[in-house]
Amino acid sequence: MAVEDIKRKMENFRRLYVDQDLCIGCGACVAMDEGETFYMQDNGKAITRPNREKNEDFLMICPTEAIKVNEEK
Ligand code: SF4
Repeated sequence: MAVEDIKRKMENFRRLYVDQDLCIGCGACVAMDEGETFYMQDNGKAITRPNREKNEDFLMICPTEAIKVNEEK
C-alpha cells in the first residue's frame, strides 16, 4: 500500500461507526455527543465523522446496538 493510501486511510479512520442497517434514527447518540462525532444524515440515520472516539458509553445508549467499534488501526 502506498504511503498516500495509508495516510488517507488513517485520516478517514472511524473507531466508532454506525451500522446503517441497524440504526433506527432515534437520535440518542447525537444528543449525548459533545464531541460532534455523530450527526444525523438526511436519510434519518446517524453516522460518525472520522474519529478515534474512546467513549464506549455510546454503545450502551444505542437501543439497536448499531454503534460498533472498529479496532483496526
Ligand atoms: S443511538 Fe443508535 S439507533 Fe439511535 S440514532 Fe444513534 S446509532 Fe441510530
